[in-house]
Amino acid sequence: MLREDLVFVGTCDIAGLVRGKGFPSAELPARRKVGIGWTHSNLMQTCFGPILDTPFGTSGDLMIVPDPSSEVHVDFRDGSAPEHFFLGDIRNTDGTPWDCCVRAFLRRAIGALKDASGLELLAAFEQEFVYTGVEDVPGHAYSLSAFRRQGLFGEMLTAAIRAASVRPDSFLAEYGPRQYEMTVAPDAAMAAADAGVIAREMARAAAFRLENRAIFSPMPVADGAGNGVHIHFSLHEASGKPVTGAPDGVMGLSPVAAQFAAGVLHHLPAICAVTAPSPVSYLRLTPNRWAPTVADLKLQDRGAALRVCPVFAAKGESEREAQFNLEFRVCDAAASPYMALGALILAGVDGIARELALPKAPAALPNSLTAALDLMEASGTVKSWFGPVFFEAYLRHKRSEAAYVADLSEDDLCARYAEVY
Ligand code: GLU
Ligand code: MG
Repeated sequence: MLREDLVFVGTCDIAGLVRGKGFPSAELPARRKVGIGWTHSNLMQTCFGPILDTPFGTSGDLMIVPDPSSEVHVDFRDGSAPEHFFLGDIRNTDGTPWDCCVRAFLRRAIGALKDASGLELLAAFEQEFVYTGVEDVPGHAYSLSAFRRQGLFGEMLTAAIRAASVRPDSFLAEYGPRQYEMTVAPDAAMAAADAGVIAREMARAAAFRLENRAIFSPMPVADGAGNGVHIHFSLHEASGKPVTGAPDGVMGLSPVAAQFAAGVLHHLPAICAVTAPSPVSYLRLTPNRWAPTVADLKLQDRGAALRVCPVFAAKGESEREAQFNLEFRVCDAAASPYMALGALILAGVDGIARELALPKAPAALPNSLTAALDLMEASGTVKSWFGPVFFEAYLRHKRSEAAYVADLSEDDLCARYAEVY
């Protein structure tokens, strides 16, 4: 068969989808500098495809410039075209970062944390999804049978994640029907968000090769089990010394980690519009689903918005410190990992800058995307993180998406989002 290698350059946009363009890999040396052409209104493509509203019209040129550290080149050795892609930054044609680049948003958050505290954040994405290539046998949550019945998918996924230079941590059969979960090892914030995107795409890529799907929609069926994206994170000095835990602190948190957590909880109702950014996200954030409903911090409690994770069999203080981490559970795969992690960090930084104390009582989370967008729009602080252009574009994108599906029943809504994610 006559074939020529192709490469794809893209970004995981505010619809939570990886979009970009491909070209012959022979062009890669030149494309490393200029990337691929893009336009402002691409940002406004909803997860359903159409641009429903845009402040940018049809004008303007941008480029997505590949980040060499994000290169994925995974050959499934089944005769299919290798997965060869780069994640990149959206830049203006003069090379400066575009106001609405999701990786620039996360980069600003990482910089803000460094400026406010001198600290760095390590993160790891734990992601749930439904694998369609397995029969649903009731009663088999976490079972060896459900683990086995997915066949080759788990091994292909694990190998693909590793071949993409991300370290797989675990793969398991989850609680819901046909639901599985994968976790990758922690890394510095930008690399961790890249890894979150890459792991998600490797699950889709492995499932595709088996003529199945990995469905990440936050709520694949109304009244079923939600697919969460849990972000584990910890704070570190530039030397690498972990500073999240302190044995005598509240729930074992160091003072700076407690302030960070207080900032996250303070801004959480508003940043739900970023971390849980679809109408179906709010079917997941309901009682009895092991998903959060209020902005709370709890010790080893999987119903909390922020969970202080356990430390397992640590020998001594330094091992305890190295393991100690928090888990942010108000996130799902409709969110771009760059945006979700960026918003989480910026909220935490505000907690550090204002030396916020942990709240006495938790605030409720919004019960719809529209309610979350109202809270986001009312927050001058969140607006300052985005800047005026990105803030308006983000709100218009998400409001147009919410209006587009406003009349659907819960069943139809879940079906539409399960097609997309
Ligand atoms: N599926 C749950 C969620 O939507 C999480 C279950 C768990 O604790 O792993 O977040
Ligand atoms: Mg889970």
